[in-house]
Amino acid sequence: MTKKNSPNPVKLIKYYNLINYNLIYNNKAINRYKKDNFEISADKADNLFRLKKSINEIKNCSLKNSATNIVFSDGNPKSKIMLVGEAPGSNEDHEGLPFVGRAGALLDKMLASINLDRKNVYISNVINYRPPDNRRPTDEEINRYLPYIKKHIEIIDPKILVLLGSTAMNAFMGNEVVISKARGKWIEKEFGSCKTSMIVTFHPAFLMRQPTQKKMAWIDLKMIRDKKAELKI
Ligand code: URA
Repeated sequence: MTKKNSPNPVKLIKYYNLINYNLIYNNKAINRYKKDNFEISADKADNLFRLKKSINEIKNCSLKNSATNIVFSDGNPKSKIMLVGEAPGSNEDHEGLPFVGRAGALLDKMLASINLDRKNVYISNVINYRPPDNRRPTDEEINRYLPYIKKHIEIIDPKILVLLGSTAMNAFMGNEVVISKARGKWIEKEFGSCKTSMIVTFHPAFLMRQPTQKKMAWIDLKMIRDKKAELKI
């Protein structure tokens, strides 16, 4: 029996599909999303839906014009841990999901090393469309998409925010900041009503090029694990 105040399930399923998380259109799906603990308030679903729609409606953006798909997010929108990368690559562009290529495989391993996976974190990027030839997004492109990722963070309301790599770090902390100095430190940040502990670590694609830096990334991962325990997330 449906409770009087519960959100319309058909509408919710539509939202869940639009914001890309694992829900299928049948009765079993409802069981599955409950099991996966992905149930979010109708308000949060609506805010995510509106945000994705407003990104979809961006005009005169060459990134958007050359991309196959919008890459909005993956993972659990209920999670208190949010990761932000740079921009989609070719695999992400085809699948419409962040971090599904080689860098994504390493990211999954990094998460697994501290007992996390995509069911208990939420993942997005500073830029939602693939830059051609996987080039780094320009400052102009970053400034254009920054309000959307800031809004995204506010909606998800994470207690821990992990910036993956220097593009995400520079977008939030300024271009004068260097990752070797900024990584592995907690910074208290506010995004609208969201108060969060933010940390910078290396991007998995960088770690594939510079595997000796993995030991530093491991220090950051342990900090995230300990913060999660401290905050009882
Ligand atoms: N690199 C990123 O920064 N984001 C992705 O989604 C994939 C690769």
